[in-house]
Amino acid sequence: MNNFINAAKRPVESIETFLRDAADNTIKYKPEAGKKHWVYFPYQMGTNENGETVKEPIAIMGRVHELRPEPNKYEACICLDGIVIDGENDGTCPFCDRVNDSFSIYRYKMDKAVEKAEKRNMVGDELEEYKKNSSRKFMEETPVSKAKPYLYMLIVQFKMDAQQRGLETGPDGLPVFELKVMKLSDKGIAKIRETFINSNIEFEGSEAIFKYDNKENAMLVAGSRVVSPVFQGKALDSYKGLREAIEAAVAKWDWEGIQAAFPEWKGCTVEQAKAKCDKIFHAWDAYQENPAVGFLEDKDEKTTNPALPGVNTPTETSTPVGDTTPKMGFGNAGFGSVDPNAAFGNMPNL
Ligand SMILES: [Zn+2]
Repeated sequence: MNNFINAAKRPVESIETFLRDAADNTIKYKPEAGKKHWVYFPYQMGTNENGETVKEPIAIMGRVHELRPEPNKYEACICLDGIVIDGENDGTCPFCDRVNDSFSIYRYKMDKAVEKAEKRNMVGDELEEYKKNSSRKFMEETPVSKAKPYLYMLIVQFKMDAQQRGLETGPDGLPVFELKVMKLSDKGIAKIRETFINSNIEFEGSEAIFKYDNKENAMLVAGSRVVSPVFQGKALDSYKGLREAIEAAVAKWDWEGIQAAFPEWKGCTVEQAKAKCDKIFHAWDAYQENPAVGFLEDKDEKTTNPALPGVNTPTETSTPVGDTTPKMGFGNAGFGSVDPNAAFGNMPNL
């Protein structure tokens, strides 16, 4: 075999895994600007802590570290804490070990920014505003966030007709649907549940319309979601055989292949995680060992501090003040928030 083929060929475990990988992220539920989505929340029967039979959503939970290997790069990995895989994972998590360093870097940048602002005689509201903008920006640059819980929930998304009023049906006369995985933060799922509790109906086994505004970026579109439970004209009541068709599809569902849509599930070994962290924190570690080498000194200023208001810096390359657009995935907490607790946990001395 020639060298390139030898190096580039990938083993195929089965046709099924090939198809899943080829399909890439089609199982990922995606909000769409200016659109309505009609969804159904499938469920399975389970037992609650009181031994009663209850409806449960079909979902898995993962605690996710969000990583910035470089300022404009985003990666994520499921927390390795407690994961034991022979020869690969011993239950420790190198990402968790670096949350404190991430916080220290944030503090370092904040101190430097404030020092600089005060040197330029910034006071009062102007200084406060500058601190807020700096905090937001440095939060977005957090190299390793604390592990935050996310729910990966199976939903059924019906295809709506072109007018966005009703459902499109297939050759069998049933609405066309797809199984999707919706990633939700604790706040995200709480908001959806609350809508159902207020309407006095069970969330599991119900249908809802998600409505999205026309916004300029994916984060804002996702944040604009308005959830309305469907009371009358539910798809599962209106189409004979639809419930069975959905149940059959859901019964075949497993979580295999989720890593194609949500790369954090690719996971890694402790060794890989440690190597990644050592690379991310290379400059910080060197500075800890020898403060004389400095960290983010003036040569880096332009890319590490928001523009100082009222100072003419034509070569400024930093994020402009007021640009609070997070550059990463959805999720309502963490990056993009000005609350450092969201990314670092409850840190003292804030
Ligand atoms: Zn961790």
